[in-house]
Amino acid sequence: MTEFRVGQGYDIHRLVAGRPLLLGGVEIESEVGLLGHSDGDAVLHALTDAVLGAGGHGDIGEHFPDTDPRFEGASSDRFLAEALGLIVADGFEIVNADVTVIAERPRLGPVKMDIRQKVAALLEVPVDRVAVKARTKEGLGAVGRGEAIETFAVVLISRNGK
Ligand code: MG
Repeated sequence: MTEFRVGQGYDIHRLVAGRPLLLGGVEIESEVGLLGHSDGDAVLHALTDAVLGAGGHGDIGEHFPDTDPRFEGASSDRFLAEALGLIVADGFEIVNADVTVIAERPRLGPVKMDIRQKVAALLEVPVDRVAVKARTKEGLGAVGRGEAIETFAVVLISRNGK
């Protein structure tokens, strides 16, 4: 018997001037970037929470508190790698991941494939097991005004039973 578990993650970060814009570990050319204690990578944060959730390992704030100076300016790659390590230690592997990024600016269409490839590499799966969808908020609310970027992620994991 193969055991499956699903996890979901969400994140939102403010867009501000003078910060690099990192999404899914890819640096994107932009006049504004995501504010955060770490590098602010909202795609990797949602994915980290989805992996932790699938494995029953709590949330990103418990593992990597934003009050901890060790994580100031941290590359979010390490959060996802540590979450992956936890589920792998439990005998799980990633089946697939599905990400939605909601951003009014910059337009993410041109970088979707770059994000997909980078996320697949970080999750150690073939690229066809990762989907990245870019949406806008039709001008509505803070995200629609270009003040923030919002992300959602769903991850399925599996392990073979004894
Ligand atoms: Mg975050």
